[in-house]
Amino acid sequence: MDGEGGGGLKPMDSEQLREYGHQMVDFIADYYKNIENYPVLSQVEPGYLRRLLPDAAPNQPESLQNVLDDVQSKILPGVTHWQSPNFYAYYPSNSSVAGFLGEMLSAAINMVGFSWITSPAATELEMIVLDWLGKLLKLPQEFLSPGHGGGVIQGTASEAVLVVLLAARDKTLRRVGKSALGKLVVYGSDQTHSALQKACQIGGVHPENCRLLKTDSSTNYALPPEIVSEAISHDISIGLIPFFLCGTVGTTSSATVDPLYSLGKIAKSNDMWFHVDAAYAGSACICPEYRKYLDGVEEADSFNMNAHKWFLTNFDCSTLWVKDRNALIQSLSTNPEFLKNKASQANLVVDYKDWQIPLGRRFRFSLHTLWLLQIYNAL
Ligand code: PLP
Repeated sequence: MDGEGGGGLKPMDSEQLREYGHQMVDFIADYYKNIENYPVLSQVEPGYLRRLLPDAAPNQPESLQNVLDDVQSKILPGVTHWQSPNFYAYYPSNSSVAGFLGEMLSAAINMVGFSWITSPAATELEMIVLDWLGKLLKLPQEFLSPGHGGGVIQGTASEAVLVVLLAARDKTLRRVGKSALGKLVVYGSDQTHSALQKACQIGGVHPENCRLLKTDSSTNYALPPEIVSEAISHDISIGLIPFFLCGTVGTTSSATVDPLYSLGKIAKSNDMWFHVDAAYAGSACICPEYRKYLDGVEEADSFNMNAHKWFLTNFDCSTLWVKDRNALIQSLSTNPEFLKNKASQANLVVDYKDWQIPLGRRFRFSLHTLWLLQIYNAL
């Protein structure tokens, strides 16, 4: 398809990449230089953008400068500036220069690492960096990849909670029989993130079997172990099957920390999976003075924290560790003919496609460069 200029559509060559890349980096650097001058919350009215853009896609290419001018005048007014130092809404979503330089590299190399063979470095680097991060968080050895466990990057905490709930569900159904799905019960508190409820909805757990136990100010809104024990005993007495308990480190409303150790013991004595959701506050626990908030995580079967929240890493990057990777794989693995390869067939490698919902997965240099450029310098 030729443009009117007669040049046609040609991919950019390396020299154009260099030129436009510099222009783009200048734009980004200016954005950060001026970020405090923007209103943090976008001031536009609903539908503002349709009035500013043409009805159909333009036929002709435009210069990068024109595109950036449009971004400046039409898009930035509709941006809520999550990276502004004056942003205090929702949760911190702090990227960093190290983080987004890594994103640049990820975008450029564009590895798709669903199986080891599709980009061995993607899988191996992810395993190594998650082991490093697990060690910094002082997670028990069982969560690291040399044993039966390991870490994996999920897009979001909601996906992390969903995949472990599916693993726990199937592990329990293998024990009690497939027809018992309607009897399975999940426990959390009324402060547990709604991601748990969504995981139940997707995972086929009946809504009436999702117990969000009441908390109050007497425990600073932490989940009292005795209330959990009582609920579990009652459910067992009426023929239901408790299978999943979710504790939180840093609840969304008040940053409360549930008593992990006691909850974990209760879960274990009832053959239940115990998940710890530290999506929001977990990052802080790499600081020795805050590590105490993870005490008891050794009783958990799985643990997640969002590097994209407070860990200077670009969205989306939610880190999940499990003690029994086979439980995840048994729930999520498929092995169609077109994905078979020697390394996977010989069981020599990790194929992250079997630890997540989608097949395709992007690579995130944002987390990995962060280590190399920033964290190590800071420590
Ligand atoms: N769990 C907790 C404690 C959270 O604070 C949040 C998000 O705010 C989530 C889960 C859900 O996170 P995501 O948006 O990554 O699914």
